Amino acid sequence: MAVPKKKTSHAKKGKRRSHWNIASPNVSRCSHCGETCRPHRVCSKCGHYGDREVLVIDN
Ligand SMILES: [Zn+2]
Repeated sequence: MAVPKKKTSHAKKGKRRSHWNIASPNVSRCSHCGETCRPHRVCSKCGHYGDREVLVIDN
């Protein structure tokens, strides 16, 4: 139900917004180079996904 803006106290607003937090992303290790990377994504360091090389990264 809609509540007028002036009726909502600063405390009430703060308590509602106390759950506005950002969860840290899941991190796993690359099975090829051991670098930390997101799961189910191509490794940005070596270009491997699982045991296959799907990206050629020259550095
Ligand atoms: Zn890797």
